[in-house]
Amino acid sequence: MTTLTLQNVTRTFGDTHAVNRLDLDVAEGEFICLLGPSGCGKSTALRMIAGFETPDEGDILIGGASMLDVPPNRRATSMVFQSHALWSHMTVGGNIAFGLKLRRLPRHMVAQKVASALALVGLDGLEKRYPAQLSGGQQQRVALARSLVLEPRILLLDEPFSSLDAHLRIRLRDELKSIQRRLGLTTIFVTHDQEEAMSLADRIVVMNRGAVEQIATPRTVYERPATLFAAGFIGTMTILPSHHEGGQLTSGAFRVPGLLEDDTKEWAIAIRPEDCELTAPFENGTSLGVVNHVAELGSSRIATVVMEDGVAIKAQIGRRQMIVKDDRVGCRINRVLVYRDG
Ligand code: ATP
Repeated sequence: MTTLTLQNVTRTFGDTHAVNRLDLDVAEGEFICLLGPSGCGKSTALRMIAGFETPDEGDILIGGASMLDVPPNRRATSMVFQSHALWSHMTVGGNIAFGLKLRRLPRHMVAQKVASALALVGLDGLEKRYPAQLSGGQQQRVALARSLVLEPRILLLDEPFSSLDAHLRIRLRDELKSIQRRLGLTTIFVTHDQEEAMSLADRIVVMNRGAVEQIATPRTVYERPATLFAAGFIGTMTILPSHHEGGQLTSGAFRVPGLLEDDTKEWAIAIRPEDCELTAPFENGTSLGVVNHVAELGSSRIATVVMEDGVAIKAQIGRRQMIVKDDRVGCRINRVLVYRDG
């Protein structure tokens, strides 16, 4: 069942198209990540769903009803911000209870809901503390509890973990995912961190300059990026400008056969490091190159190989391969993606 629909949603500031004709259908219980570089319009899109910003064009529907004339506090959404924005003069319990008190819930129900929200985020027993007496991670958990306690139909999060260190970020990410699954909560999460989006989302919305480049599962976005932008933004990718020559796509030493129609348009060839195999030099079907750099990424090693024509390609080094800087190697490309460039 669709919970949230964005139809042709557009928001312009002066001559900046912050969000340009955004269409999106979100199913109940789905976890969506809006992913893109700084300034691509993800926060503006989220703020329009929350009702803090009004679209110039288009419609936003929750449960099939248009929200254009509905104020933020009546949209069944709740937002968690990047800076946790807790009230420093209120205790943790007071911060979480605030929204419930506005709804005039009886005291005993408020106390019950606050206690269960605190338990949900793993902060039982801390309700008498003040925000200044909590770590950054604990403060962000309080911010999450303050949203969850309102039992929103849609939870909105704007880069909620970006101020935390890498370890804590991963921990809170896992906790959020497990809470979201347990509650079956429809969630829209804004991030510029592709790894965060890949690990959290059921579907990723890749945005660039206010427009959607691709909406797909993390696997599809990685395996089959729909556009050159998506290909370059997600994961490591070598992108080689190329052109047609004799019915083939050509970039320096590389040829991609099978594209017979001759045309003058510019193209780009994109290659994932794991699709570029390194061999001994001069093996059949390989091109010669010299290793310029080896990056240790922990779970893998990526070599930057400079080919004879000067083009640099990133290749994943096999588990058993001993390859170091300045080695001469063969490069075998097993899969390429091809895009129009411009
Ligand atoms: P970031 O990751 O840096 O927060 P973002 O992808 O969330 O970026 P937005 O904050 O949505 O991007 O901004 C999109 C574009 O709209 C940017 O060019 C920004 O400068 C512009 N913009 C956003 N809000 C306003 C505003 N209130 N007035 C003028 N321009 C704005």
